[in-house]
Amino acid sequence: MTTTAIKYEPDLSKPLLHEIMERSGQNLPACYQCRRCAAGCPVGVEAGVTPDRLIRMILLGDREEAMNNLLVWKCLSCFTCGARCPNNIQTARITETLKQMAKEAHTEPLLPKVAAFHNAFMKATSHFGRFNEVEFMGIYELENTASAVKRGNLKIITDEIKASSRLGLAMIRKRRLHFRLARVRNLAEVKALYKKSRQQTDR
Ligand code: SF4
Ligand code: SF4
Repeated sequence: MTTTAIKYEPDLSKPLLHEIMERSGQNLPACYQCRRCAAGCPVGVEAGVTPDRLIRMILLGDREEAMNNLLVWKCLSCFTCGARCPNNIQTARITETLKQMAKEAHTEPLLPKVAAFHNAFMKATSHFGRFNEVEFMGIYELENTASAVKRGNLKIITDEIKASSRLGLAMIRKRRLHFRLARVRNLAEVKALYKKSRQQTDR
């Protein structure tokens, strides 16, 4: 059996590590690969990548693989990995950062529906500082449809509309869909946070 030796490219690793540490606020070099995070991650096995492996990819400078693996797109943000980590590394913050970086790099997401969900969530919460279900669902459907059109997959759109209509009607019947648009008291503060975050990203 042949194995491929892992390459370490310091010129690629340092900028990637610096960017992810700065944006996620996580101290990745503190990881000593104990894999306590891996043992508790509910999606690691299915994704084929556990939090420790994701961190290793970044430390080795593998930008493409770090942005294009299923853990980034399947992470539930459950924070189990961070709760178990002896070094308090929150991989959910890292997967969020990598999603955003993939978007900025115009990389085709491995799971387009998750990318549409992520974009819709960020947009919806920026308007009123709160997650409003009806607003979010509208933005999500638009994002999802635009993504499907871009990929030329029109069947996905019709299937999605049918499934969403069924779900929406079922939720209305059970009074689980709220139409009122709630907003935080200090919306200006939330908008300032979004603005600051965008400025940091553009730097
Ligand atoms: S639990 Fe923390 S230190 Fe251990 S492998 Fe996971 S991220 Fe690294
Ligand atoms: S936050 Fe994400 S990476 Fe961490 S345990 Fe949960 S699903 Fe796994």
